[in-house]
Amino acid sequence: MLSESMENEFLKGKKILIVEDDQSSRLYLNKILERAGVVIMNAGDGQEAVDAAINNPDIDIILMDIQLPVLDGYSALIKIREVSNDMVVIAQTAYGLLGDKEKILNAGFDDYIIKPILSQSLIDKLVVNLKKK
Ligand SMILES: [Mg+2]
Repeated sequence: MLSESMENEFLKGKKILIVEDDQSSRLYLNKILERAGVVIMNAGDGQEAVDAAINNPDIDIILMDIQLPVLDGYSALIKIREVSNDMVVIAQTAYGLLGDKEKILNAGFDDYIIKPILSQSLIDKLVVNLKKK
């Protein structure tokens, strides 16, 4: 297993857009990614996520909540894919929604992570998906 510091080094300077409407979840994700040296952007609903993706084509990863106001995660993904296929888009999904896994991957997300999100699982998930690109 790679040490946490090696993984964190890999994420340093990568640009990640966190899309999350729940404020405490958003703060929690920000804290984890700050420690990893990530350049963080935030969006609080699906439309903000689409706008951020259009205006920032250098985003490496979008961490997208599914249940969002204005536009949900699926609709936001469709609009983002119209402008970029390069960004890794990872869905955040609530624990226990068994049917979601297939639906998420069929929709075109690169991967998904189940809430509650643990710090090291998040770091591992980001690193693995960036290395795939
Ligand atoms: Mg939500």
